Amino acid sequence: MKARLSFLLYALRTLILISLSAAYTPLPDEALKGIPRPGDDFNIRNGKLLSQILQPRVPGGPGSAAVLNHFAEFFGSELPEWTITYQNSSSTIAVLGNKEMPFVNMIATRDPPWSNPGEVGYLTLVAHYDSLMKPEGFIGAIDSAAPCAMLMHTAKSLEDALTKKWAGMVEAGDHDFEDHKGLQIILLDGEEAFDTWSDTDSIYGAKSLAAEMESTYHPALSTYHNALSTIHLFVLLDLLGSRNPKVPSYFKVTHWAYKKMADLEKRLRNHSLFESSGSSWFYDVDKSNDRWMGGMIGDDHVPFMARGVDVLHLIPSPFPPVWHKMSDDGEHLDMDTTEDWAVLVTAFAAEWMDLGNYMGVKSDHKRASRDDQVERIISKTELT
Ligand SMILES: [Zn+2]
Repeated sequence: MKARLSFLLYALRTLILISLSAAYTPLPDEALKGIPRPGDDFNIRNGKLLSQILQPRVPGGPGSAAVLNHFAEFFGSELPEWTITYQNSSSTIAVLGNKEMPFVNMIATRDPPWSNPGEVGYLTLVAHYDSLMKPEGFIGAIDSAAPCAMLMHTAKSLEDALTKKWAGMVEAGDHDFEDHKGLQIILLDGEEAFDTWSDTDSIYGAKSLAAEMESTYHPALSTYHNALSTIHLFVLLDLLGSRNPKVPSYFKVTHWAYKKMADLEKRLRNHSLFESSGSSWFYDVDKSNDRWMGGMIGDDHVPFMARGVDVLHLIPSPFPPVWHKMSDDGEHLDMDTTEDWAVLVTAFAAEWMDLGNYMGVKSDHKRASRDDQVERIISKTELT
């Protein structure tokens, strides 16, 4: 009986995945061209997104609190439709003389307006915001301040298109089971080891969150039985922002998503929408069936993957030369590459959310919608 039930659950999950991938259509060129570049937002001195993350972010420290506050202010002021939750935990750290260290993960979600909790399946984009404790003053720009800023850029760049698409669907009464697709951004704490990386001294935030999401149950008749199972694809960004990254395809089960990234990279380059030069980052597209025996890199995805979550790990191998050195700071970011990553991840998320008809909408459309708003305000005033 147990086996049959788990088979049924497996079959249901497969059906959901098939229906999702069937709905997956490539972004039209116009939409690709409509993806904004971060530009000034990524200025390392005064940019709205990145500059404030470029400070030491040791768990429990003042930099960590300031950066978390920066994320909260960003979503609160720029993206008020997103739902923000925090997940707290603490661990006794043996290498710090059994000191109790606190960890705070931030989870930001954007659901279709008609969906109830437990009904929405997510594209989950993830990066860690904490930084190494030693050497003192370490910034960790690629590790992972820049990836956090990339995800903020993605959320910001898709908001108009998401709002328009969902408003249109509500108006037309045109939404059903397949449209319970949302975006989730997870900014994790405590990825770094306090001493030497090991299974016990690392990924503190991710371990706690994966366990908690697994035991956070939804109402009995929900589509997804717990918070963990709402994750359709867990895309982890790490060590991004140095020039000429080479990202292997780590997992056969998500090689299809790796290929989507590679397609988008190629198209962005062909349309001169990438600023960085060099060869393809996603060089591993033709990986043959007998080459999936290789290892993986220990990182925040591990406790999620161990619980059956599909993971796309965007981490270059070899690691960039600045990795875990004091030189991993804002000045050593390759800004063309950093911005290109933000555009690429945005394109991937736009394609996932099927925003092809809503990205890069011509400016007169925007004007039209603003005129509509003005009209609505006027008519409201007339009513009162
Ligand atoms: Zn690191």
